[in-house]
Amino acid sequence: MAFPQSGILRSPGTADLLDAAIAEGADLVGGLDPVGIDGDLDGHLDAVFGIAERRDVGADIHLHDGGEGGIAQLVAIAGRTTAAGLRGKVAVSHAFALGSVDVDMVARTADVLAKAGVAIMSHGPGGAAIPPLALLRQHGVEVFGGSDNIRDAWSPFGNGDMLDRAMTIGYRANFRHDHELEFAFDMVTGAAARVLGIEGYGLAVGAAADFVAVEAGSVAEAIAARPRRKYVIKNGRVVAEDGVFAA
Ligand SMILES: [Zn+2]
Repeated sequence: MAFPQSGILRSPGTADLLDAAIAEGADLVGGLDPVGIDGDLDGHLDAVFGIAERRDVGADIHLHDGGEGGIAQLVAIAGRTTAAGLRGKVAVSHAFALGSVDVDMVARTADVLAKAGVAIMSHGPGGAAIPPLALLRQHGVEVFGGSDNIRDAWSPFGNGDMLDRAMTIGYRANFRHDHELEFAFDMVTGAAARVLGIEGYGLAVGAAADFVAVEAGSVAEAIAARPRRKYVIKNGRVVAEDGVFAA
């Protein structure tokens, strides 16, 4: 795919629109392949991190660029995160590069990401190399799951069901053991809540009563067996039962 334009975010108009969106209430600024699509690493990161720092919001950068070029961008993002004081507020989605270089380079990059407090999101990609999720977490990187697309112009797949997404991640990551599926489950629940800064999350007294109830003997079974979603509870109220919206 060729992108005739480059330096899109360097042009004041685009950065100004992003900045205006944050001023009007958007709570996160996003970037996209600073090199592969924008062709302007510094200009792209200047714009994204400039807005994040000025407006005190987090940043997510979708990074599909693979190989050592992608790794170099991850290291640059980590450096920017530290410089802007945005530890714990920056995520890189996909980071396919981490699945396309040798394990030593992944380990070194993971240490850089962990030190800077940059999280890595994976949705269990179908057509690209998946980062070694367990290795990243072993090195202290906050690894979490996201749904990416929901039946949109980019992909016909995705349904917003994060238990389903845990299965996709587990399938793509070749998870087999219960503890691995529990890791996939944590990616789409607790870890994702931490990255998003959601407070009062989890099965605890006083936490928000938002949850899905299924019939399963374990977390691993709930992912692998894809049981019927018996109840969906929102704010303590049943909003769907057996897949049908409650009246
Ligand atoms: Zn994406």
